[in-house]
Amino acid sequence: MIRFEQVSKRYPSGQEALGDLSFELDAGEMAFVAGHSGAGKSTLLRLIALMDRPTRGQVTVNGQNLGQTKRRGIPQLRRGIGMVFQDHRLLMDRSVFDNVALPLRIAGVAREEIGKRVRAALDKVGLLAREASAPVTLSTGEQQRVGIARAIVAKPPVLIADEPTGNLDPMLSAEIMALFAEFQQVGTTVLVASHDLALIKRMHKRVLVLDHGRLIDDFRPAARA
Ligand code: ADP
Repeated sequence: MIRFEQVSKRYPSGQEALGDLSFELDAGEMAFVAGHSGAGKSTLLRLIALMDRPTRGQVTVNGQNLGQTKRRGIPQLRRGIGMVFQDHRLLMDRSVFDNVALPLRIAGVAREEIGKRVRAALDKVGLLAREASAPVTLSTGEQQRVGIARAIVAKPPVLIADEPTGNLDPMLSAEIMALFAEFQQVGTTVLVASHDLALIKRMHKRVLVLDHGRLIDDFRPAARA
């Protein structure tokens, strides 16, 4: 579902953010990308969403070779990828409902269908009662849940998240990570960048460990009974 083959990324500044990175994530698999600040985690996620392109190597997402994806093909690629950021990036002058509806409106989904799907997404993240609220009236954890509802409302096969718990306390962080695991349960491929090793360990998922842009470990937990 996501494949990196000998991918390197050097920024115009000369900084090598990723070096000779290869890994594969199957459909329906969940993994974390761990590593120190500056290890290359964000860069890796940005290449998946074509927010940037590699200097060398090949990235394949949903069977699509991104090296052959032209600029006009990017919106279609992104429809297949839900994205969650640390700073949820909600529109503060719109309601919770409107924020979550945004990807569907852009995709031209019919009105009644939008209502149904937005409520289903809000229900999944436990915020059905807050659809009319303004994001500012929600707690940080709830705002992040709205960001997650927006990411999954169009049922993308791939969900990527960059430090989604960076602004949350340990308990809320654990709840948000559990939510990502739930999406994996229903078949979504999930890749989450985080530097919170203690939290990652408790999730018992695969962990790709980056160090200065190199993959230094690909840890797979033993199957649990
Ligand atoms: P992480 O997400 O693990 O903190 P990043 O992918 O953000 O790591 O950064 C990896 C390396 O690339 C760092 O050394 C960072 O300074 C550098 N970097 C990231 N983005 C850019 C950019 N737009 N221009 C130049 N260097 C960058």
